[in-house]
Amino acid sequence: MVTMAIRHHHLHDPLAAIVGSKYVADEDFVLETYSRDISAFPGSMPGIIVRPGTTEEVSEIVKLANRTGYPIVLKGGGQAGGGVTKGEPTRNIVIDMGRLDKVEVDIANLKATCGAGARNSRIDDALRPYGYYANTVIGPYFTATIGGVTSGIAGAGFGKNVSSVGCNWGHILGLKVVLPTGDIITTGAGPDSNIYRKDIEFREVTGPDLTSLFIGSGGALGIITEVAIKIYPIPKYSKAASYVFDTMENIWAAQLKMAESPTVLYTNLIMFEMANHMVRAMAGDMHGYGALFMAVEGDSEADVDLRLKEIEKICTGFGATRGTPALNHYAATGATGTGAFVHDVCAMSCPFMTWESMSTRSQSLEYAKRMLDILNNQFKEENAKYRTSGGLYTVPIANTMLIGITIHWDDTVPGVEEHNRKLWKAGADFMLKNGTFSAYAQGNHSSSISSAWSPTYYKVMSGIKKTLDPNNILNPGLWNL
Ligand SMILES: Cc1cc2nc3c(=O)[nH]c(=O)nc-3n(C[C@H](O)[C@H](O)[C@H](O)COP(=O)(O)OP(=O)(O)OC[C@H]3O[C@@H](n4cnc5c(N)ncnc54)[C@H](O)[C@@H]3O)c2cc1C
Repeated sequence: MVTMAIRHHHLHDPLAAIVGSKYVADEDFVLETYSRDISAFPGSMPGIIVRPGTTEEVSEIVKLANRTGYPIVLKGGGQAGGGVTKGEPTRNIVIDMGRLDKVEVDIANLKATCGAGARNSRIDDALRPYGYYANTVIGPYFTATIGGVTSGIAGAGFGKNVSSVGCNWGHILGLKVVLPTGDIITTGAGPDSNIYRKDIEFREVTGPDLTSLFIGSGGALGIITEVAIKIYPIPKYSKAASYVFDTMENIWAAQLKMAESPTVLYTNLIMFEMANHMVRAMAGDMHGYGALFMAVEGDSEADVDLRLKEIEKICTGFGATRGTPALNHYAATGATGTGAFVHDVCAMSCPFMTWESMSTRSQSLEYAKRMLDILNNQFKEENAKYRTSGGLYTVPIANTMLIGITIHWDDTVPGVEEHNRKLWKAGADFMLKNGTFSAYAQGNHSSSISSAWSPTYYKVMSGIKKTLDPNNILNPGLWNL
């Protein structure tokens, strides 16, 4: 019998000594699966994969990287649509955060302390038996991790109540972070802002809000290993409504009018164009420009009904008609983030790129029209050739409007990825020139966003990066730092 010696990466044994050999992989077929995300951006082949189970193990890996000069790139749930951080292709140590998935529930203090690798659904699974929930995401519920959402998207993400309670950053109490030197720090009112305290208790500290430094950083400044979040009781009543509008102007006016109400009318509000294939399938004979989907939740049925009445008054005032039962069903599930089919779409990891950005309320309609013009007209013939399509959705959030266009394509058509990168760049450039930026703090989005930083802003950011990461070991190149 001939036995073949396996030639491992030379960091294999030191990494195995930290986490155990079954949590280290350097086989080509494994490296390949970690080499890219679900976008059309080119990948970056890792050198080796490691899956730590504790914050201390993450810290040891980071110290090893500093000693040996191998860069680190992070992998949460891989739901990024911006391309993986390039780092140094074939040299990167990819840290897969998935094993840090413990969720500790503390009902008395209305908080949950979640391992950064915990999938969003896992957090709700831990809370549901107590009658509580957490604000995480609408879409990648089974797939994205709380660490990846906190770090990888503006405002730490958009949850199922985002239109009424804002982005997730406001629900984050504090973080445990492994700094690029391997030091471990807690933010918020935790054991590092007061050495006499054991856990992260609340967000507010007398001093700079260090938590914010890591939110939306894309992982350039530290590796989040724990996220302490506020939790909320599940409301007793949840109802839904949908309305179909004839024109883009009317649907916009109704959204802005509802967002002005002194009482928050809806728990969540999403707009989709009727051309969206999912909406089209549910609309039956109804036609028009687009539909608003609203979930209204509360502890008093009378209050929920009153709010639904006010919504009806505003929508019909702008010429809308009530949606079909199927559209209402979508409102009850899609807009509340409970729609299994929405989560399934994300779990299937279909090819996905996005122009998701936040616009001021006053500019948002014009801005959305011009984004649609880029999608529909600037590359019309090439889109047809490559079977690339897209669709607009909006979500009002406080004084802004989230404007999203997802780009989909047929990845069996040769050359399609290059076309989509060109299309995406045209939209990204337009976003910047309009004074806004992509919501995704990842790979190519971060390079695009930081290209519009002023010299002073860049000096501050690179100063922070150099101080925290003197060897440029963590996600090198992200934000062009
Ligand atoms: C179809 C689809 C629907 C979506 N819907 C929503 C939605 O409803 N709401 C919403 O908020 N977002 C949504 N997103 C965006 C998604 O939440 C973000 O892309 C998020 O960053 C993905 O997290 P992840 O765990 O998959 O991280 P990854 O994709 O693995 O990583 C994303 C970024 O985070 C960094 N990172 C990962 N883990 C850590 C860590 N522990 N510490 C520091 N940095 C880290 C990585 O370096 C990378 O830059 C959607 C995405 C898709 C593809």
